[in-house]
Order: sequence, then C-alpha cells, then structure tokens
Amino acid sequence: MAPEKKAVDAVTEGVKKVAIAGGKKEKKKGGAAGDAPQRPLELQPAPEFLQRRIELFDRLKKKYDEEIAKKPRERITITMPDGSIREGTSWETTPGEIAKGISNSLYKRTVVARLDGDPNKLWDLDRPLEANCKLELLSFEDEQGQMVFWHSSAHILGEACERRFGCSLCIGPPIESGFYYEMALPDGGAVHESDWKPIETLVGSIVKEKQKFERLELSKEDLLEMFNYNKYKQHIIKDKIPDGTYTTVYRNGPLIDLCRGPHVPDTGRIEAFSILKNSASYFLGSQENDSLQRLYGISFPDKKRMAEHKKFLEEAAKRDHRKIGQDQELFFFHPLSPGSAFWLPHGSRIYNTLQSYIREQYWKRGYEEVHTPNMYNADLWRQSGHWDYYQDDMFVVDVDKTKFALKPMNCPGHCLMFGHRERSHRELPIRYADFGVLHRNEASGALSGLTRVRRFQQDDAHIFCREDQIKTEMDGLFDFLQEMYGLLGFTFKLNLSTRPEKYLGEIETWNRAEAMLKESLDEWKVRTGGVWELNEGDGAFYGPKIDVKVFDSLRREWQVATFQLDFMNPQSFNLEYVVGEAPVAKKDQDPKPAAAPKPKVEEAPAADKADGEKTDGEKPQEKAKEVAYSREKNMRPVTAGCARPVMIHRAMAGSIERFTAILCEHFGGKWPFWLSPRQIIVIPVGKGFFDYAEEVRSIFHKQRMFVDVDTSGNTLQKKIRSAQLAQYNFIFVVGDEEMRGRQVNVRYRDDTSTQDRGKPVPLDEAIEKLVTLRDEKGMYNPFPAAAKKA
Ligand SMILES: [Zn+2]
Ligand SMILES: [Zn+2]
Repeated sequence: MAPEKKAVDAVTEGVKKVAIAGGKKEKKKGGAAGDAPQRPLELQPAPEFLQRRIELFDRLKKKYDEEIAKKPRERITITMPDGSIREGTSWETTPGEIAKGISNSLYKRTVVARLDGDPNKLWDLDRPLEANCKLELLSFEDEQGQMVFWHSSAHILGEACERRFGCSLCIGPPIESGFYYEMALPDGGAVHESDWKPIETLVGSIVKEKQKFERLELSKEDLLEMFNYNKYKQHIIKDKIPDGTYTTVYRNGPLIDLCRGPHVPDTGRIEAFSILKNSASYFLGSQENDSLQRLYGISFPDKKRMAEHKKFLEEAAKRDHRKIGQDQELFFFHPLSPGSAFWLPHGSRIYNTLQSYIREQYWKRGYEEVHTPNMYNADLWRQSGHWDYYQDDMFVVDVDKTKFALKPMNCPGHCLMFGHRERSHRELPIRYADFGVLHRNEASGALSGLTRVRRFQQDDAHIFCREDQIKTEMDGLFDFLQEMYGLLGFTFKLNLSTRPEKYLGEIETWNRAEAMLKESLDEWKVRTGGVWELNEGDGAFYGPKIDVKVFDSLRREWQVATFQLDFMNPQSFNLEYVVGEAPVAKKDQDPKPAAAPKPKVEEAPAADKADGEKTDGEKPQEKAKEVAYSREKNMRPVTAGCARPVMIHRAMAGSIERFTAILCEHFGGKWPFWLSPRQIIVIPVGKGFFDYAEEVRSIFHKQRMFVDVDTSGNTLQKKIRSAQLAQYNFIFVVGDEEMRGRQVNVRYRDDTSTQDRGKPVPLDEAIEKLVTLRDEKGMYNPFPAAAKKA
C-alpha cells in the first residue's frame, strides 16, 4: 500500500494551493475576504432538489422493501474464515448481525463484508445475505476496507457540499490516499480555502448524526427522474447504465447518490476527517467539458491515526524534492521549456555522481556504453511499432520534408546497432548501456517537478543474449539491484508478470524463459531473504517482466527498475546471430514480403513499457490511421544456421531525473558524503586565517571534493548555522591552533556529538579519511574521536 506518496503530492499542492476559477488564478490565501464570497454555513432554505429527491426515494424504497419482504426465507449457512459455521436466514440475516453476535467491538471495527473471498463481492454490513456464503469481515486495515471507508467519506463530503453550495455533484471516488468529490457550483462558482473549515464543521455534524447508509435498487428510468436536476449524473446514467437494467442509489441523510456501494453502516464511523486541498478539473477529464471544482479529503476511524498521518504529511512536505531543489539550488524549470529541468551546478554534481556510480557498475559488470542518435526517421518508429501506438507521445519534426521524431526510448537504436553486422553466438551477451537524452510529449497538465518530465536521461541498457543465458543475466541483474539499492538504503520487492492470454511467440519459449526467471528469483530470495510476488498473466504480450518497487525512508513505495524480456523487437528488426562456428551464407538483404510468421496477436507493440513512466489516461491516445509502411513486410524468417537473440530492457534507476527526486525525498536533502553537492565548508574564525582556509580548500579541491570557504563577515555561530542549513557534510573550523598545527576542527553533519569544538584533526589524516569515506561510499563518522575534548 502506498497511499502516502499521493497524499504528499496532495498536501504539497495544498500548501501552495491554487484554486482556479474560470481560468483565473485565485489570490493567495483562500481566506482573503476579497474574492471568496461570504456564505452561511449551509443554504437556508436547503436546495429544492433535496426534498424532491427524498420524496421519490421514500416512495420507491417502500415498494422495494415490500418486494424484499416477499423473498423466500430459507435456512442458510455462513462459513467464517476460521471454518466455523453460522446459521442464518436468507434475505434477513446481515453480516452486521453476525459480527455483533461475535462481539460488539468486532462490529465497531468492521467496515464492510466480503463474500466468498471474491474482491468483487463486497457487502454492506446491514444488507441481508441472500444465500449460503463464506463471510469475511474487513476492517480499515484491509486495503478493500480502507477504500470502502474513504468512499463512504466521499459521500459525507458530497452531502456537506450540497448543503453548503447547492452544487451538482459529479463523481466522488476513493483514491490512493483519501478521496475527493467533484462538483459544479451554481453559476460556475469556485470553492475557496475559506470553505474548508465550514465544510469540516458540517461533516462533524453529519458524523454526529450517525446517518445510516440505505441501499435501494432503481430502474434506469427512475434514476433519470431522480437526478433530473443534475446534468452530470444524467450523462453518467445515460452513458454507463444499459437500458432496461437496474442499479443502486445510496442515501445518507439528505444525500442520495448514484452508487454501486458498499459503504460503512453509518456516518458515525468517520471519526476523523480533514479537507486537504481543492482544485479545478474538467468533467470526465476533458478540456472540452465544463470546468468543475474538486475537494480532496482524508479520513480515519480514529483521531490518533489522523494525527500520525498529518505528521507524516508534514515530514513529506519538508522533503518535497521541489522544495529541496529550490532551497539547495539544484534545479529549476522555466516556462520557455516546460517539463525540462535546468540542472544548476550543484544539481549537476548529483546528476554526474550518480552517472559515475552507474558507470563504475557497468565497468564491473561487463556493460558497454554507447551513444546513439536523438532523432530518427519515422520509418524506424514504424518498424518498432511506436509510430502506430506512441506517436502522440513523441515530438515529431520535419527534416528535408520527411517526418522524424525525437527518441522517447533507446531500444530501437540499439536494435540497429546489434543488426549493424553479423553476430556470432560467442559475442553474446551484448550489453549496450546508453544515457541518451530522451523526450516524451507528456501533457502539460501532467508535468510535476522531476517526477514527470518531458526531457530526461535513463540508466538504460539493453542486453541481447541467447535464450539459455536468460538465467545468468537475471542473476546479474538481481546482484546489481541488491548492491545499488543496498548502498542507497532502499528496501525493495519484486513482481514477476507472466504470459498474458494473448502473446507473441512460441509457448515453449515463454515457458522456458519464465522458468528461468522464477529460478533466478527463488535463488535471490534464498540468498538475500528478499520478497517476490507472482502476477500471473500480467506480462506484456511480447515478454514476461519483473518490476521493482522500492520503499524509501518514509516507507513510501516507488516503482523504479523494470527488467522486461522482449521476444518482439528482435523479430521486428530481424536480429539474429550465427549459432555454429562456420560463417553463414550471406543473407538476402532485401526483405521478403510477408515471409515472416504473423504475430499471434492482433495488437501491435505498445510503447516499450520497460522504459515507460508513462501512465495511461493522461490524454487521449489516438491511433494513427494510415500506415504507409508495413512492419510485417519488413520482417524476415531467421536465416538457416542462425537464431534470434532475446532482448532484455533493463534500468536500475529509471530516469535519472525521477531517481534524483526520489533520492532527494528519501534522504530529505541530507545527501550522503559521496553523493553530496556540498561536501566540506571551511570556516575561518577570523580574517587572519583566510589564507589558511583557502589553502585547506585548495588541498581538498585537488582531491576532487566539493569544498567552499566562508569568508563572509558573519559571526562564527551564524556561519556554522548557515553551513548546517546548507547540509554541508563536514564543517572545518580553522583558527590559530589549527593553522599552527596544520589541522582542522571537524564537525560532522550526521553526528551531533561532533558539533562542539573538539580535538583538531591533522590535515593529512582528514584527507586520508575523507578520501576513504567517499571511495567506500560510507555512511559512518570517520572522526569519532574528534568530539572528545583534548
Ligand atoms: Zn458510494
Ligand atoms: Zn528498452
């Protein structure tokens, strides 16, 4: 579960909240009386549609209850998770009664029931069971329970908003962390930050009232009548509900909402509730549609958990990489190139150190670094399949009246490189690594700090190997992963996604490949005690893959590395290697039309998800209609005496941009010494020691360390304080004693016991220890004795 990350985004956006009303930016601090309309807590009288909706509900509910009363009452058995069996009556016994029968505290803890272990069969606690079933009682701790809890909270938020604004509600889903409700205020009005408190007050009274959530099934006609005042609900009903069918509405207090449910039994369950932010949106996410208002909230079954969560959000906001990036002058963005970071000198230090580290790993692990073009003729993208399915995400340019596109990934270029000359089985595996600059045309609304950008570089590599080498290559990747993430202090978990229903290639190839992946994963598990899970049938149609999720120091989950096996690109690019020792007869360079076996699937290759950070649904992806170039025509069968290599797409960090953002938040801006853009600052205690301070700087500079001198006119205390705020790893204070003894007085950022002036360290010793600390990428205090007074 990783609800926290989203919450962070939510709260940080909340901090610098912009409520957009009709395209105009609201002035800062929503409470400013200037443009926020003065409103009573709630509309008096209440909006007219509330009463009409209730009358219709009551009438239909009576009819519905009569029907339920006619249902046959039969003995049913209810099997509990521990195997025990309880007796009940169909259309009478509810999960809530069973919970209460066990204990009242169990009932209070239970949010919703799940029947027959089926995640799609969640059941309201007071909804009668209809037949024999297995019954699970889910609490807030259960992920599905949590979603139901937040979903129910959204209804409460909706009720408060209707009562305060008389608005037309649209949708109110639970999200990764909390929920929102989207609505249209009368006359295109906007929600202001000054509305948050009153809404929380209304929610407080709704919770106190313990309004029951009542379920009612309605026909499409009745639904259209019930929501005739609300054009958004009308649209949803017409669009989503087939004619002649029934669906449900739920009522709590005056709110009646179109909803499949289920919910908590009553509003009293939502003990702690907070609004986190508001923003503007478009109905159904399309700019063509009406502009709407969204209110985001979070809720918990008790106040303690809310307090913990708020503390977590505060900590996360402090660590926000956009804030640290600004405070530490690492990078910035400019409207003249949205989504492309300007890496300032200190940020570039981190960027380069990360790349150097990865290059060291490449050296050790037999990767070869290559450089490939940034721009390719559209024919390359046609051959790789990107042109048909990824064109909208690429920047297309005209060159000599021909369409070219900036590369969104390196894979096709590496395929050209592999196919550049004949390959022998003895050359394999070939591991091409490429830090090439990539561009993806992300929607401007989706851009966010370094985590969603248009220009980035990856620690991208493609391994071309024989099928029998997959296992060894995977072993190598896990070892790489373990070393790199271990160094950075991440824990991680792996997910294997296997063959989907529609797949490309031979089933035997898939089986052998998946067996090797599993074997390698199992061995890694034994070796390290790590965790891996199986996502059966969830692989891409062109190959199985392993996803890596890391947990940072706040236990937030991030998707970073992916290892994707690919049986398709080698085919699209006619890649092959000579199996035996004898050279193979010269191959026919002209593609033979339609000679290649047709892929078993109708879909063509999706964008390379191995390299993808693209999430779906950000913008409409129209598929290119006209295909001037036929991939199939260009594909050839394997030459006799040759075999196809398997391609493995792999990245450890993913994009360096995004990875830097993750590291920034993981370390909270306190970079470890080897990665730090500010390693040492020398502070002379007075003017007389400026020259010595400068000499010390120059000595450490020669050791290729990032070292500064503070020659400002500030007091010593102030200089130390600002050096600490700037997160220098070491502060060297130099005065008379140090100068005469050719020493430095060391304060280490991460060890408070060295913050007082201690025993000076000889320069030679300081150099030696810091060089070792850096080269070992250590996280320890190299001067533990320095704190002790002489
Ligand atoms: Zn609902
Ligand atoms: Zn790739």
